[in-house]
Amino acid sequence: MRRREFIALLGGATAWPFAARAQQIERVRRIAVLLSAAADDTIFQTRIGAFLQALALLGWTIGRNWAVARRRTVEETWTIDIGTLRRAGYVGEPAPNWWKSGDKLCVLGFWPKTWRDGWIELPYQTLQTEQVPSRFGGERFYFRCDCGRRVEKLHNTRGKPWRCRHCSDLTYATRQASARERERIKTQKIRERLGGSLYFGDEFPAKPKGMHWKRYRRLWTEHEDAKNYFWQ
Ligand SMILES: [Zn+2]
Repeated sequence: MRRREFIALLGGATAWPFAARAQQIERVRRIAVLLSAAADDTIFQTRIGAFLQALALLGWTIGRNWAVARRRTVEETWTIDIGTLRRAGYVGEPAPNWWKSGDKLCVLGFWPKTWRDGWIELPYQTLQTEQVPSRFGGERFYFRCDCGRRVEKLHNTRGKPWRCRHCSDLTYATRQASARERERIKTQKIRERLGGSLYFGDEFPAKPKGMHWKRYRRLWTEHEDAKNYFWQ
């Protein structure tokens, strides 16, 4: 066998197991992508495009053996909480800082046409609000989402109606972060408390003056556990 043929064969062999396995299993895999950008961001679209092409080269074709599962996160959307509406005077009695709350609502594109107890009429949607007596005196305010849930926050994405996070199928970015990432953050927090380098690959920071050895050792153990989890 000539050298060039051998290399070509090797190249084929690395791609082969992926394609073969995908055909045998016939199961559609889901790849979750966490994006910190809007869906129409052109730079991100280019990057995602490159990612998809690289996967296709390995035998993974979108729609055939894998699909993209993407969920929006709460942080990507506009959020309105009932407290802001209350301070602005659209719910109950106007509260202190009503003007600041009014500004915030304007930024969110929130323009009530009319409002009265229980209803806020927007140009494109009517929001239902509720006052519930609090256990500790006074009243608590809630939105009543179209799904019937009583919530303190509503979310909206690009001209869609305001809905609760269950309806909008939103999830918190921190919840989506992988377990490994959480462990890495844990090491960073311990290092932050002790001072020194934040990177867990560096030497463990020295015991700060005044800290008990027992506590310092416990932090070290926690740090080691988190580090090992990340590296396993
Ligand atoms: Zn809802």
